[in-house]
Amino acid sequence: MFTIQHAKIHFNEENTPVSDKFDDVYFSNQDGLAETHYVFLEGNQLWERWVNYQEAHFVIAETGFGTGLNFFAVTTLFREFRHKYPDSPLKRLYFISFEKYPLPLDALRQAHLAYPQFSRLALHLQQHWLNPIQGCYRFHFDETTLDLWFGDVAENLPQLGDYMNGKIDAWFLDGFAPSKNPDMWNERLYQQMFRFTKFQGTFATFTAASAVRKGLETAGFDMTKRKGFGKKRECLSGQKTHEKLTALSAPWFHSQPANLKEQDIAIIGGGIASLCTAISLVKRGAKITIYCEDEQTALNASGNKQGAFYPQLSDDNERNIRFYIHAFAYGHQFLQWATQQQIEFEHELCGVSLCAYNEKAESKLNKIAELNLPSDLYQSLSQTELSEKIGLPLPFGGGFIPQGAWLAPRQLVQHAFAFLEKQGVQIKRSQKVTALSQTELGWQLKTAENETFSHELVVLANGHKLTEFEQTQKLPLYPVRGQVSQIPTSENLLKLKTVLCYDGYLTPVDQAKASHCIGASHVRDNATREFSLTEQQENQQKIQQNIPEDWTKEVDTSGNLARIGVRCSVRDLTPMMGAVPHFSAQQTQYQNLFNLRRRKQPIGQATNYPNLYLIGALGSRGLTSAPFLGETLASLIYGEPLPMSEDLIHNLMPNRSWVRRWLKGAEVK
Ligand code: FAD
Ligand code: SAM
Repeated sequence: MFTIQHAKIHFNEENTPVSDKFDDVYFSNQDGLAETHYVFLEGNQLWERWVNYQEAHFVIAETGFGTGLNFFAVTTLFREFRHKYPDSPLKRLYFISFEKYPLPLDALRQAHLAYPQFSRLALHLQQHWLNPIQGCYRFHFDETTLDLWFGDVAENLPQLGDYMNGKIDAWFLDGFAPSKNPDMWNERLYQQMFRFTKFQGTFATFTAASAVRKGLETAGFDMTKRKGFGKKRECLSGQKTHEKLTALSAPWFHSQPANLKEQDIAIIGGGIASLCTAISLVKRGAKITIYCEDEQTALNASGNKQGAFYPQLSDDNERNIRFYIHAFAYGHQFLQWATQQQIEFEHELCGVSLCAYNEKAESKLNKIAELNLPSDLYQSLSQTELSEKIGLPLPFGGGFIPQGAWLAPRQLVQHAFAFLEKQGVQIKRSQKVTALSQTELGWQLKTAENETFSHELVVLANGHKLTEFEQTQKLPLYPVRGQVSQIPTSENLLKLKTVLCYDGYLTPVDQAKASHCIGASHVRDNATREFSLTEQQENQQKIQQNIPEDWTKEVDTSGNLARIGVRCSVRDLTPMMGAVPHFSAQQTQYQNLFNLRRRKQPIGQATNYPNLYLIGALGSRGLTSAPFLGETLASLIYGEPLPMSEDLIHNLMPNRSWVRRWLKGAEVK
């Protein structure tokens, strides 16, 4: 379900990559780049359209990413366009590409050697190339964003979902000759393409096969035959000149893009959720004001000295596993970005070890092993291997996440906010927002000091206090108090080489402070912040009980150094992100949902508060999930493509628990 096979290729006498499976070239032997320009860029009349474009982003989708040659060519052309027309309203390019058999890295590198003019882009892609699992990975190339969907286009394309209906401006219909790859070229593909194409959007393809022409025509495109590239007689392009209404499959999760004129956005909260959302919004040109009730940012859950950065791989809900794997990959890019911006934060890419410390833990780890994840994501290790990995003896084996890390969340969040302040983001510290009211132009915020501020759009990112507003009080969120202990290092603890997870976690030494973090307690429905001696002692007892080895006796929490924070959680342990649902309006709309569906009666789109969004319920994994969630939320606000499949998006929707009940005919109180 998760795994992706790599392509097997060779290079022919002209040094063109050739697929062994499909027995076809990745691009023309004559001149691949000229073919790309002629067939896809000119076939879709990109430059002419960009010059006259009135919106802020343009979306291209491609079947078959291959070497990325088409992507490099169009990214380069878009850069030229931006240089030539800096004042054009069109600022950003989205390139969505589907790839079933990604090239192995060495083959990708070799293929790129033929195009030295793209070496900067190629290097960037190679640096981020990974052993993927199925689904979407987002990469940033300045003003171009690449969403690479790994897996069969037949499975992934429908996962763009209701949200992307009528949003794609142009298609690069690639993917080996139809005669060599008949499975891909089918009616369903053409129908889906039509569904996602914007009115007056276009496609272009290198082939003129009559089955392809007929299929695209039947799907609804107006067709044009062009002269083919090189020795080819003809090729096709086409346009969507009429709309066909597509019924929404899940109107209860549908949300419209925000209505933004001034891009004046307030974010309430000063933690990692707020930070990551702000970064993604600033990149899109938004004017951001942060409201933080504390005198400084990162003083609640995001304020620890050390935290573990790794995906949650064990969950009964497989969508959560996929979400965290993709979030983890995106989180890595975020950490790299922060480092490149010289935002200082202590961190160590040391890996995270998971202990099979009892039967239940062992069975969970066995389930992870059955997922057959790529080995750079997860490895099952024997007792000897795991002991060697962590640098200390363990009485059991377990699992290892090589790309896991620890990082200093407080430093990261505070320094990154300082970086954003230099970019013009305004941070209002010691400003508690107590109420929100809708105005004609957006939202009015009232603070504890009775001041009022107006903004066009508001994002709630205020951790466990998310439900303190009238608009959010029905969300099923609860606080979970956590105490993490800071302990001195010792002769043996100093040897710990990775983050170690059992029924708690211990981080390697923080060299700067010669201490470790060990934690953390979980006290549900408790938002207190006082030191607890019991929790402090439990942090010590847990490791000593779970790992009965001499070295764990050196764990000493008696100095009573600790930090307490309050997480925000929800029963299904999945974050929430999206438009704030209007509970009473949705209740009226959907309390009879079960019968409406049974009787096949029309069902309206969900009523949400306009220009009011939230990001929260990050639970115990916020360091991993926040960057991906923040980026997805920014895309949602701007009506851009989303970097995850529709089923994952639905899983994050704030109204999901109500909808699940309404769908079953149950009441929501
Ligand atoms: P917070 O960081 O709590 O931020 C909320 C912000 O909202 C605060 O700045 C607060 O001042 C502000 N605010 C609240 N109400 C208002 C208002 N009305 N007006 C203005 N401002 C307001 N995650 C991991 O990934 N790895 C770990 O190892 C890890 N360990 C943890 C250990 C402990 C003890 C705890 C408590 C959490 C841990 N977590 C860990 C979880 C992670 O820290 C959280 O998921 C994450 O920090 C949540 O970020 P947030 O921005 O949503 O909330
Ligand atoms: N556009 C590419 C480039 O710029 O290098 C060349 C594409 S190559 C001709 C065709 C690609 O389509 C291959 O990488 C192949 O693995 C991919 N492909 C074939 N069938 C597919 C399918 N069903 N779903 C997704 N990708 C597919």
